[in-house]
Amino acid sequence: LSSRASTVLSALDIRAETELPGVYDGEWTGSGDLLESVCPTTGEVLARVKSASPAEVERALERSREAYKVVRSVPAPKRGEILRQIREALAVKRDALGALVSLEMGKIRTEGEGEVQEFIDIADYGVGLSRMMNGRVVASERPGHSILEVPNPLGVVAVLSAFNFPVAVYGWNLALSFAAGNATLWKPAPSTPLCSIAVTKIIAEVLEKNGIPGAAAGLVVGGKVVGESVVGSSGVDMVSFTGSEAVGREVGKVVQGRFGKVLLELGGNNAAVIMPDADLNLAVPAVFFGAVGTAGQRCTSTRRLYLHSSIVESFLSRLDSLYQSVRPGDPLDRATLLGPLHTRAAVGIYTDAIDHLKQTGAEILTGGAPYRDLASPLDKGNFVMPTIAIPQEVNVKARAWSTETFAPVLNVGVFDELEQAIEWNNGVPQGLSSSLWTRDIRNVGKWIGPAGSDAGIVNVNVGTSGAEIGAAFGGNKSTGWGRESGGDAWKQYVRWSAATLNFSDEAPLAQGVQFSN
Ligand code: NAD
Repeated sequence: LSSRASTVLSALDIRAETELPGVYDGEWTGSGDLLESVCPTTGEVLARVKSASPAEVERALERSREAYKVVRSVPAPKRGEILRQIREALAVKRDALGALVSLEMGKIRTEGEGEVQEFIDIADYGVGLSRMMNGRVVASERPGHSILEVPNPLGVVAVLSAFNFPVAVYGWNLALSFAAGNATLWKPAPSTPLCSIAVTKIIAEVLEKNGIPGAAAGLVVGGKVVGESVVGSSGVDMVSFTGSEAVGREVGKVVQGRFGKVLLELGGNNAAVIMPDADLNLAVPAVFFGAVGTAGQRCTSTRRLYLHSSIVESFLSRLDSLYQSVRPGDPLDRATLLGPLHTRAAVGIYTDAIDHLKQTGAEILTGGAPYRDLASPLDKGNFVMPTIAIPQEVNVKARAWSTETFAPVLNVGVFDELEQAIEWNNGVPQGLSSSLWTRDIRNVGKWIGPAGSDAGIVNVNVGTSGAEIGAAFGGNKSTGWGRESGGDAWKQYVRWSAATLNFSDEAPLAQGVQFSN
């Protein structure tokens, strides 16, 4: 193992030379297929992880159910206190975990640490929430009656997560799910098993200290097959799925088919719209971060840029000079702004998208090819050059505009009226994030109103990417309509009962119905 990798792994006591167990249900096991964690920067195998066998998935589900029976009886504020301890334990390991995210997923240090910070923040939020998950008293039409709307824990919540946020997405779910009194079972992306093992260890220690069964926050590492058995299991009350539209479509059908609850957080295809009065000193760097940050591998990455015709040249020349200033490099190095793509396959997807752009007559303004520095020790990394393309026309039904390419490829279109840009913004299947740059309040009103952006995230003078935990996060249309993190998202992690209480000496029927002679 390279010294850069062993430094990161040893800070978290991950012993790369052994085959690591990838299942936790109170005990660490794993006898399924062996998965490799491959470093996207160097191509080296970081560790081998034993995934969950079918029998281990079964047992983890049973143990989750047993753990749920314990967790649901712990008073919510006490669950909040345990979350507070989880928050503290994560904070101690924040930098080490952040470095592991950089090593295994490939995002740069500040973003890896930011992701752990997001888990810390949502745990804080869960602590507060644990004293505020209130039901309601509803006025009854019948004398001597009250109606209560009561939130109770749901049961077992399975979290299936994507590779690009190997820590935070689980955090969003675990904090709310645990505060609400559920057991949570995590099926992470098969290419980021070390992040999930490290996080699970930290949480398991806290649970153990508090006498809570470990399966309250269980883990089953595996790929499609493990995912399918978790999703299909009637032992899972809610599936919270984060990933691609293609897989989400199948997951949604399976869970709906058995009448389970499903929360979908799928792909984005996010646009920034720049009006002539935009402050370009703010807008240009925001588009740069949105499109190039995380090497274009955020669900909220900026993929479409709609420029008002009057500012095209000035905007693109400033954006281009920022693009010229970045070179791909080691995400562990604090000076790096652009890390690798997560997998070799992703480089192929990038190249394919560029080829398609060229074939359909797009102008490639900058980038457009993988990056390999043969003299560098990182010559096996999955690096690509961030790309700005100007397709011949804006046709939102065409592949270049309508599909999410999970790489730093930005397509540019030119408009004259805001209405046109909004139509393009809304014309794609996805509806995750969107961003308008203007100083004119009339544009703002249009943008956030009924004829405005149809995305779940509708920003003004803020880029498409980089959400805080306080607001509900998620997207509409083929992004799946799910909401996670803040806002009212917690309400999905409980089952709601309407409880009508009669404390009178009569038993009248609603709507004045009489059922006696
Ligand atoms: P993916 O769909 O390939 O995988 C997601 C998860 O599903 C993984 O854990 C995978 O092992 C599992 N899986 C694969 N096939 C399955 C099946 N048949 N049944 C059950 N589970 C299965 O996604 P990815 O490539 O890891 O992640 C990138 C995608 O995730 C992008 O589209 C991105 O936009 C999206 N994403 C969305 C959000 C959001 O909040 N909307 C956040 C992060 C990522």
